Amino acid sequence: MNFDRDKNYKYFISGIPNDWMCPTCEKGNLIINEKSIETKETNQSKKQRDEEKDWSPESLQEKFTAKAVCNNRNCKENIFIIGDNTMDWEYINEYVGDDLTDFYYPKYFNPPINLFNIPYEIPCDVEEEIKNSFALFWADKSACGNAIRKSVECICDDKRINKTRTVRGKRKLRSLDEKIKELGIKHPDAADSLLAIKWIGNHGSHGDLDIEDIFDAYELLIHALEKLYINKEKRLRQLSKKIIKKKGPA
Ligand SMILES: [Zn+2]
Repeated sequence: MNFDRDKNYKYFISGIPNDWMCPTCEKGNLIINEKSIETKETNQSKKQRDEEKDWSPESLQEKFTAKAVCNNRNCKENIFIIGDNTMDWEYINEYVGDDLTDFYYPKYFNPPINLFNIPYEIPCDVEEEIKNSFALFWADKSACGNAIRKSVECICDDKRINKTRTVRGKRKLRSLDEKIKELGIKHPDAADSLLAIKWIGNHGSHGDLDIEDIFDAYELLIHALEKLYINKEKRLRQLSKKIIKKKGPA
């Protein structure tokens, strides 16, 4: 699992390739069909344009729809995109210099695109919640943070951590904190990351998460998933032992 937080997960510019991964084959990249881009100015933007004396093109607010196609010849999946677009100055080349350019900010992808690959070792319920966070990522960072937090609940369920406890003869639901602490007895490294995600998710409930918070949560989640499900160190230790015992390739 690899998540590159330096990748552009904000916008696309017509004619400039991006490296967003196809959700179907998970190999190809999405190529925006420039002819498919349709834009319409919002009523609010039209009103501002009519009323403001010092109106400039950077104030333009539009909505767009566009189609992208996977560049893997064996896949060619079609992806539909909806979002907002604005104009801003962008460096073109040494002859043109800066020019006014359309920036397209996607809100929804159909089907949703993955921000990182989820290997087969990850349980389906956990995968489903992570994919839900991918779908929400573009439109609502706080809702995305909540979905990542839900994936932590799914991890605790998968690891058979009790959902309830008995207090004075009554069964009560355990908090996520308690469940993560119990998980931490066997998996301390993963538990610290999961607890940090819980705190990020909690802030999401108040609606104040930004893109960097989500990137932090994804990096922590990947670390925890690798510790809990992939366990590369253990697999490589076993592989070395096997090769040494055989005195040759495994
Ligand atoms: Zn594809």
